[in-house]
Amino acid sequence: MISPQDVLALCREKDVKAIDLRFTDLPGLWQHFTIPVSKLDDDVFEDGLGFDGSSIRGWQAINESDMLLVPQSDTAKLDPFPELPTLSMICNVQDPITREDYTRDPRNIARKASNYLKSTGIADRCLIGPEAEFFIFDEVRYDQTANSGHYHLDSIEGVWNRGQDMTFMGKPNLGSQLRLKEGYSPCPPADQLQDLRNEMMQTMIDCGLDVECQHHEVATGGQAEIDLKYGDLVSMADDMCLYKYIVKNVAYKHEKTVTFMPKPIYGDNGSGMHTHISFWNGDHPLFAGNSYASLSEEALYAIGGILKHAPALLAFTNPTTNSYKRLVPGYEAPVNLAYSQRNRSAACRIPMYSPNPKSKRIEFRCPDPSSNPYLAFSALMMAALDGIQNKIHPGDPLDKDIYDLEPEELANVPKTPASLSEALEALSRDHEFLLRGDVFTQDVINTWISYKKENEVDALALRPHPYEFCLYYDV
Ligand code: GLN
Ligand code: MG
Ligand code: MG
Ligand code: MG
Repeated sequence: MISPQDVLALCREKDVKAIDLRFTDLPGLWQHFTIPVSKLDDDVFEDGLGFDGSSIRGWQAINESDMLLVPQSDTAKLDPFPELPTLSMICNVQDPITREDYTRDPRNIARKASNYLKSTGIADRCLIGPEAEFFIFDEVRYDQTANSGHYHLDSIEGVWNRGQDMTFMGKPNLGSQLRLKEGYSPCPPADQLQDLRNEMMQTMIDCGLDVECQHHEVATGGQAEIDLKYGDLVSMADDMCLYKYIVKNVAYKHEKTVTFMPKPIYGDNGSGMHTHISFWNGDHPLFAGNSYASLSEEALYAIGGILKHAPALLAFTNPTTNSYKRLVPGYEAPVNLAYSQRNRSAACRIPMYSPNPKSKRIEFRCPDPSSNPYLAFSALMMAALDGIQNKIHPGDPLDKDIYDLEPEELANVPKTPASLSEALEALSRDHEFLLRGDVFTQDVINTWISYKKENEVDALALRPHPYEFCLYYDV
């Protein structure tokens, strides 16, 4: 634990000049305010810094906009990017009058989820291991009004025209271009992103993140994956915010651009954020046992909870209209709500890499990196916990390639929602499991549904889409 005194000492030792205070808005984007180091004292750690909560997406009304940011000393990190030596801290958000933690602060929701798990006596912690994927492009050009039909991605390896086909600008392939869907995982020169990913990896390590592996991903248009070692729910969500910050800023420094949107390119793999989850009591891994795939009964129930609540859960783990363009057959993304060992076409996979009970976990393959990690991890944990609390058995596993099954064989296997709108409807019907322990309040559920519907689902539906120009311009 780093105390406020440690932070002040670190600032002196490293000649820090600026303190960056960070927090996350409801959709999941990191926000910040900077104070000179001279203004950081015990009072700031105690009383926080005031800011306008009405300008933050999904938060306060204008007549109740004063809010407080309370820096958490144990999240202090030296920031690798600004010219002025800067130390950043993640903050909790509080109401200045009641000094209560703000119910719409995603980090508060994750803290409550962790505490609730402990209070049930079922487990004392939930470990989360996310595998975020993302695309690196040279540039992205699009008309924001999407009225002109001009939409165009220039990827590292070639030009994707309206996402339909790839041409290599007449350049011969000199071994530096990947074949379609073969980005996983030839060595350079075919892998043109090694240096950039290495710099991202090293920057993460310098910032104290525990990186397990980095590699090119399947999609040809510059797709990457960097994996962090699993960690506690709240600190893993903190780390994912830092992770995205580092990935975006290293790319920006090299005049590249990164997107975590799940399906930027039609016809190639999308970006997922498979999320591994396990429950622990002290050193005892609750998910290891003698049932199917060496799982415990609790683990099977956890799968039952995840699959039962998946349609609603996806409103948090796959929270964008673009998310559902990824969840289609043929791209290693799950389309059916089934479970299986080793099987990458099932929504829940049980990795079989190691016989060690300590590595026993469930990989939920639906989530994508457009999600707010605090909300996605919390909702996933609550669904798994509900499965255990109510002994929800997941039925039989589906140990087949689900993409190849005949329609009759699939008839009884439920599907992932087809759109954000469907997931939001599922959430409006099924959210009791999220309200337990006051983790997600009714206000948060209602706000999430109305925010997503008005600002994303309806906003998109009202706009002419570039592909409509392709289909209908000449009618
Ligand atoms: N990109 C795939 C997805 O959308 C996953 C590919 C992989 O990691 N095997 O989930
Ligand atoms: Mg992976
Ligand atoms: Mg991957
Ligand atoms: Mg995976």
